[in-house]
Amino acid sequence: MMEEVVSVEGLVKRYGDVTAVNGISFRVARGEVFGLLGPNGAGKTTTVECIEGLRVPDAGRIEVLGETPSPTNYRLKAKLGIQLQETAYLGLLTVEELLFTFAQLYPRHRDIQELVELVALTEKRKSCVKNLSGGQRQRLAVALALVNDPELLILDEPTAGLDPQARRALWDLILSLKAEGKTVLLTTHYMEEAEYLCDRVAIMDHGRIIALGPPAELVREHLRETALELELQADLEEGALEGLPGVRRIVREESGNLVLYSDDTVSTFRALAELVAAGRLPLRDLIWRRPSLEDVYLLLTGRRIRE
Ligand code: ATP
Repeated sequence: MMEEVVSVEGLVKRYGDVTAVNGISFRVARGEVFGLLGPNGAGKTTTVECIEGLRVPDAGRIEVLGETPSPTNYRLKAKLGIQLQETAYLGLLTVEELLFTFAQLYPRHRDIQELVELVALTEKRKSCVKNLSGGQRQRLAVALALVNDPELLILDEPTAGLDPQARRALWDLILSLKAEGKTVLLTTHYMEEAEYLCDRVAIMDHGRIIALGPPAELVREHLRETALELELQADLEEGALEGLPGVRRIVREESGNLVLYSDDTVSTFRALAELVAAGRLPLRDLIWRRPSLEDVYLLLTGRRIRE
């Protein structure tokens, strides 16, 4: 039996006329990395803010570590590690000073030197926070979230805006926390991040969960085919590619590209080549790839996540 750390049932949150979260349910098990994946505005931040007790739901039930989150539930807050999307720190303090300052807020805290090492900021421990790079600042934010040795770590877009190397470093850090036995709930709009880090993901769109499960299973469940992405020089008539051998489904992206999902790649390739040779397919480029979480998202919404 999985031990539940977070349980969300029928969560609804509105801001005036906007329904940011529209009746979602999911559970996070102890020791897993669980991701809320979706584009900007999907409702991820609102969801984690309700779980953190920073916002009060309009409907639904949330339980975190056996408690109901609320702005005044300090017993629960002491067991959570929270990294908010945007954080303003006291920039003139050094890394160490800031960590010591945060540590004083809790009855029990992790060893600061050990924490500095864990997030690979040993060389920067005497540097002022304002002089850190984006990646270093994000790792410091994670260190601050870990100060109270929380049972559940909640990271809101932890790698947003980071270069690939800094993102990699943060991924390694998150996986080392998982290896320590921490439970991690994170939000992201990076597909490859969700695929790499998360044991399970909930794909969110317009305040709803449209798919939930381990990334590889979601791909297997929704897409057994190969994805052939066609970039065209001119529009095709509606239905021009219907009935091509092997093609199970065609999705037109907002960019105009067509994605053909084929269960017989060779036959589909051959048919496409014949159409090009006959001057009936104005092809500029063709990309062949195995389906990914990105394709699942595209299939379910008709959009790419970062558009
Ligand atoms: P992002 O990654 O951009 O934060 P998100 O998936 O986390 O996106 P939310 O921030 O939860 O999404 O926003 C969901 C919806 O609620 C959006 O339409 C947003 O404009 C709206 N919203 C969020 N916060 C507020 C607020 N304080 N007041 C009014 N509307 C809000």
